[in-house]
Amino acid sequence: MTTVVPAQTSSPAASITPRTWSFINRHTGESMTYRCMQGCTLDHSREEGRSVFPEDLWCWTLPEALTLPVNSNGQPEEFRVLDTIIKVEPFSPTLAQRLPYAVVELIEDYFIEGLDPDGYETLIRTLADRLEQMRAKHAQLVAIRAAYMRRQAA
Ligand SMILES: [Zn+2]
Repeated sequence: MTTVVPAQTSSPAASITPRTWSFINRHTGESMTYRCMQGCTLDHSREEGRSVFPEDLWCWTLPEALTLPVNSNGQPEEFRVLDTIIKVEPFSPTLAQRLPYAVVELIEDYFIEGLDPDGYETLIRTLADRLEQMRAKHAQLVAIRAAYMRRQAA
């Protein structure tokens, strides 16, 4: 299942205490209580008190967006990069998704999903290694550029 991040359908303020609300189970017609994940920023007004399939319910925390100008078709455009959403789907047919997990949006609409804490840590370590390489590459760029400019001046 692909995670689609809608444009601000979520309330900006994360709730401190988890919200509790009810919905009607569309499979059985019974009223069920739903307790939000701590920190859930999702606006559940389209589900609260309504008839919904439990497996369609989830909570998440939206991150502060980071964008960078990325050129994908000749013109740089601002794309979201490296966002992490913490999500839980309490009635998911995939059992692992019934516990909070991380979804990382590497770049707009391209996700790494289903990361448990170990998986998320592995990703962070991989990116940290890449940042180290970028720091080394930065030093190399500074040196190459200085040498190049000296050559131009000579
Ligand atoms: Zn929620």
